[in-house]
Amino acid sequence: MDCLFCKMIKGEIPVDKVFENESVLGFRDIHPQAKDHFLFISKLHTENINHLTDTHTEQLGEVFSAIKLFSENNDLAGDGFRVVTNMGKNGGQTVFHTHFHVLGGEPLGRFGR
Ligand code: AMP
Ligand code: ZN
Repeated sequence: MDCLFCKMIKGEIPVDKVFENESVLGFRDIHPQAKDHFLFISKLHTENINHLTDTHTEQLGEVFSAIKLFSENNDLAGDGFRVVTNMGKNGGQTVFHTHFHVLGGEPLGRFGR
């Protein structure tokens, strides 16, 4: 499958890894939109959040557990952070492997256009 993030998981392209366990990978976004900007993904491929079904409950829980653990161990949780997922054209999705942006390290503006 021609998926950029699956290639990262398989070690076929380089990634600035910040977190890994058996089910989740976390890495630095190559074009940071905040002082700290990480992406967290499940190692199981789905296209975006609307492709998740009841069978993916555990997968989603694993990603959020990883974000919680990582944020607590890396000075993000204290001052807070934001999790964003983009879906489809209007959401601005560019990589079609479900991923969660973790943004922080500084106060963030409100969302919008
Ligand atoms: P989205 O636009 O929500 O689909 O998010 C995709 C994100 O992947 C963007 O923020 C990109 O900057 C990021 N990205 C694309 N290629 C890479 C890469 N090789 N390493 C790290 N992040 C990447
Ligand atoms: Zn993938």
